[in-house]
This record gives sequence, C-alpha cells and structure tokens, in this order.
Amino acid sequence: MKAVVYDSAKNFTIKDIPTPEPKSGEVLVKIELAGVCGTDLHIHEGDFLAEFPLIPGHEMVGIVSALGAGVNQFKVGERVTVNPVVSCGDCEFCREGKPILCHNRKGLGTNWPGSFAEYMIATEDLVFKVGNLSPDVAVFAEPAACAMHGAQMLGIKPGSSALIFGAGPTGQLLAQLMATSGAASVTVAGSTQFKLDLAKKLGADKTYLMDRNNVAKTKDDLLKASPSGYDIVVEATGSMQVAEICVPLTRSGGTFMVYGVAEPDETFKINAFDVFHREIRIQGSFAEIDTFPATLAALESGRLKTDGLITHRFSIDEYGKALEALRSDKSAHKIVLKF
Ligand SMILES: [Zn+2]
Ligand SMILES: [Zn+2]
Repeated sequence: MKAVVYDSAKNFTIKDIPTPEPKSGEVLVKIELAGVCGTDLHIHEGDFLAEFPLIPGHEMVGIVSALGAGVNQFKVGERVTVNPVVSCGDCEFCREGKPILCHNRKGLGTNWPGSFAEYMIATEDLVFKVGNLSPDVAVFAEPAACAMHGAQMLGIKPGSSALIFGAGPTGQLLAQLMATSGAASVTVAGSTQFKLDLAKKLGADKTYLMDRNNVAKTKDDLLKASPSGYDIVVEATGSMQVAEICVPLTRSGGTFMVYGVAEPDETFKINAFDVFHREIRIQGSFAEIDTFPATLAALESGRLKTDGLITHRFSIDEYGKALEALRSDKSAHKIVLKF
C-alpha cells in the first residue's frame, strides 16, 4: 500500500509498504478520505508528541476491509471512522475515569501508524460505524469529536454570550456546538472573510474580521460590541497575541478556554489580579477520547453541519502540496486526502 512515511521531523516520502494484516481484535480499514489539519503541521515539525518513524493522519473515514480474529461487531464493506486516541486503562488518570489525561496515551498518526495511507489498522474499540453519513461528513468525526469535548469542558450555561477566536474547521464546529448548547449569542472572530461567511451560514450569530497583527483594535471593537465582555471566550487560533486579549474580553465570572494548539514553549501574559478579583475560570481542552458516539449522533441529526468546509482535495502523492496549502493558501479551509 501507499503511505506517507516520516523518517524524522520534516522528512517524509510517499512509499509503497506492505499492507498490514489485522491481528486478533483489530480491524483493517481501507481509507476513503483523510483530513489534514493544523496538528499535522505541528507533527511535521516534530512537535505535538510526534514519534518517528511515523505514518501521520488522525482524521479519516473508510471501509472495513478485513477483520482480525474475534471481531464480530463489524462487517467487511461497512463504512467506519476511527477514534485515534488510545488510553492505557491502568494509570492513575484512567482509573479515575479521565482517560484523556492518560500518562501512557498514544495517538494514531502521532506516535502510532495513522490514516495517511491506503489502509490502517485499529483495535475494534476505536472503530465506529458511521451509518448513512457520507464520507465528506464522516471525515469530520475526529475534529468534531474534539469540538464536542471542548463544548463538554465548557459546560455552557443557556443564555451565555460566547466568543471564539478562529474560524478554522474545529473553531466552526465548536461555535455550532456552543450555539446548540444554549448560548444566547455566538461571535466568531477570524482573519479570513470567507471563513466568517461560512461560520454565519453554519450558525454563528455575529462575526468579526480581525487583524491578527492588531489585537488591541480587535479587543476594543469586541468590547464595544459587548461592553462587559463575553461569558465564554475560546482561543482557537494558537496565536499568543490573540490569547493575551482573551481574559480582558471574558465577562466577570466567565470562562476562558485554551483550545488552539500553541508551540510547546510559547507563553502569554495573564493579569493575575484580573483573574482573581473577577473570578475568571481558565480551562484547557486538549483533544477527544470518549465523544465519538455523541459526535456521530450530532452529525447524523444535522445539529453539527460541515457543508462547505472542504475546499481542497489532494491525492496521497500530493501530500507535500496539501501541507503547503494548509500553511499558506488563503483559500484553503478543510483539506482532505482522497484515496
Ligand atoms: Zn486534526
Ligand atoms: Zn492511562
């Protein structure tokens, strides 16, 4: 099979390698579509807990192609998606029921073989049937599951005002979930107009076109629109300049959530007295681990919409082009590899 194989950070080739065979309890999935996301750029650089050699890719939809011994819940030919996050079940956090904080956590496409290949293997507990969802929708299961986890971490109170920085695919999905969780208004701030237009179509109430290099103006404008701030402020760009204006934009008693992926050594300033006397809650949201069923249900019912998000499709041979488009093509929103 063809696969994107990294020997080390930044060094990948498209190789022909043996198609893996499913062992007991495993499922072999023939990939139809695999989503490329910002995390893959971090992995390309060797960040985000990447371990090499590696086949990257953690977003996918495909068809069950073979079953290992003892797997009875799937049939060959069925369309499925795969939760890429694996917890150990044994560490102190797993035993506390918080597998996302697992000490020994593994990620398909991060430190285990992922979906940028014609076939991938997953243990059956990670595989989910997607029912009638089309591949174009089901390929969003993983990013949408991350958004679902984010929404669950926020525990949005009905009637809240919400602001999210970042109109990329996961920002858009979280904006929708905040709206359907009962937020009275959701504002999406981003630096690309067409993404904001889509956010509005998919359920945002207001949008704000920001200049990432002039966050002072962004802060002033957004405070003008909501003078006491926003009950929920989500940073989904990974930019430290943007992160720095989030607490000042959070309404007293509200929540600031770090949702974007920053570089591991980056920091931003927070005014401690402000957090203290205005009782601001600071929350992280890392990934997903137990939200696939809820997410697939929301995609199925149409509560979560993905229409119009996919803008670019590349073949596996064009993986370099896909990364380049993700990095610098202003017209790119969701990029997928098609097989
Ligand atoms: Zn992703
Ligand atoms: Zn664990």
